[in-house]
Amino acid sequence: MSTQVFTIANQKGGVGKTTTAVNLAAGLATLGIPTLLIDLDPQANATSAVGMEKTPGGSLYKVLHGEGKLEDKILPTAVENLSLIPSEVDLTAIEAELAQREDYLMQLRRCLDPVRRSGRFKAIILDCPPALGMLSMNGLVAADYLLIALQAEYLAMEGLGQIKSVVEQLVSARVNPGLKIGGVLLTMFDLRTNLCRQVETEVRGFFGELVFTSVIPRSIRLAEAPSFGKTIFEYDRLSAGALAYGALSKECAKRFQLKK
Ligand code: ATP
Ligand code: MG
Repeated sequence: MSTQVFTIANQKGGVGKTTTAVNLAAGLATLGIPTLLIDLDPQANATSAVGMEKTPGGSLYKVLHGEGKLEDKILPTAVENLSLIPSEVDLTAIEAELAQREDYLMQLRRCLDPVRRSGRFKAIILDCPPALGMLSMNGLVAADYLLIALQAEYLAMEGLGQIKSVVEQLVSARVNPGLKIGGVLLTMFDLRTNLCRQVETEVRGFFGELVFTSVIPRSIRLAEAPSFGKTIFEYDRLSAGALAYGALSKECAKRFQLKK
């Protein structure tokens, strides 16, 4: 019945946010869960990763300005049960423009509300740019859960304090009192290295149960798929990356009680 909104945000670049947004969304859709992926990053990597193009006027740019409805930006994708709101370069400008509005943090939440209440989608996944600017902040205010992608490398946890304190501030200032960290995902994991295992131990020690059991391996197939405009399930459904994102999707469906 209810719709859960997940924001994948982190100020750190290149840690697997988009790969996770795209393949988790596709994995949930493959489980039969109606899912909406929203590309909030002007880089539009999630848009091209599902084989769609940046289209002038196709993004949330105007909607965030109060013109038009978010519903009208939703497009079907080649994956059954997966819809997309694409990005375009215009979104870059919204960073500065939103800051001038009084209720600038609430814009996305306000626009998303009718879709959330309609129950058309059970999961909505927001892919954010690698900065805690206006777009990511709007993503956090619109979300029920923050999902953190963490690259398994030295100093992986550095900078996590910042996003954690942003979440705490949004909750305590009652801007988004319901916001929770929904999970931490280890990405680009290389089983052969001791370093990855050390990072895993450290992250599990710190975040405990919040860390997903599923871990995403470093896999060339995951890196290749976007250049073909395909999710990993379409590109190579038996690859280690597809199996890992499939397992993560099942774990999320269970953890967040996402229904078909
Ligand atoms: P940005 O901060 O720029 O938005 P991001 O956090 O969204 O980056 P991705 O775009 O998902 O990160 O990944 C960064 C690069 O690493 C991409 O080229 C992607 O294809 C590659 N990549 C992501 N996950 C994996 C993986 N598990 N194995 C191998 N390559 C990966
Ligand atoms: Mg990205």
